[in-house]
Amino acid sequence: MVSAISVETALEAGDVLGESPVWSREEQSLYWVDILRPSVRRWTPATGEQRDWQLPAEVGSMALRERGGAVLALRTGFALLDFATGAVTGLHDPEPEATGNRFNDGKCDPAGRFWAGTMDCAEKEPLGALYRLDPDHRSHRMTGGVICSNGLGWSPDGRTMYYTDTWTHRIDAFDFDLGTGRIENRRTFAETPPGEGHPDGLTVDSEGGIWSARWDGWRVVRYAPDGSVDRTVELPVPRPTSCAFGGPGLSDLFVTSASTGLSPATLDEAPLSGAVFRIDAGVTGLTDATFAG
Ligand code: CA
Repeated sequence: MVSAISVETALEAGDVLGESPVWSREEQSLYWVDILRPSVRRWTPATGEQRDWQLPAEVGSMALRERGGAVLALRTGFALLDFATGAVTGLHDPEPEATGNRFNDGKCDPAGRFWAGTMDCAEKEPLGALYRLDPDHRSHRMTGGVICSNGLGWSPDGRTMYYTDTWTHRIDAFDFDLGTGRIENRRTFAETPPGEGHPDGLTVDSEGGIWSARWDGWRVVRYAPDGSVDRTVELPVPRPTSCAFGGPGLSDLFVTSASTGLSPATLDEAPLSGAVFRIDAGVTGLTDATFAG
């Protein structure tokens, strides 16, 4: 079912490859990254204020830290960003030899560990892996054989972790142990049909619904917790990349998007490619977790 839910352009951000949206309840601001610019971006809807932090390497994803600033998954490994000074401090590169890989999507679990995965930049071979960066700044390799590590999220009860390797055309689920951060029992949560785009970033709402952005699919799809498609929301751009709930009541679904790789004809058809969209989703989100390290 294609839903009549309203979609509006929140910000003509002009992103090359917008990704990793995160809502700060404290600042009532949306943070995200432009992977290729590369930068961390912030926008405060109530005031319209915008700020960018330029980064020294491609940035796949970010999360906010409890103590301020952000944790980043850079091409060169995990790093911290100080918002006051703009300084970037490297923590650890778990794949120093894998020069054809870069970090991609990442997110904090409800206990404050930062999860991020890598991808084969050619998006062909299963050379990537998923890592967990703990608050002590040690990283752990949690699963391998990944072509393009993408959307991550946790069920409201913290017992299920959702995970996307885009080129498997599946969203998978793991049993998740919130206390230890262990994952097991990987299984298919949903398969994505050909012709409806490739599963990219995702977020989980307060009812346990999973919202999955569809690269080259012009849409975001909501799944019920049993894996059935509940709703499809069409967008005016082919490459939505990820989504996050924000706004005063966590009732706005913000969707990032990309302009990279699109033909001039497609850009003519979809001039808002690279914008941030706002969907009145009719359901509220969960507070984005912060990094405890
Ligand atoms: Ca992505």
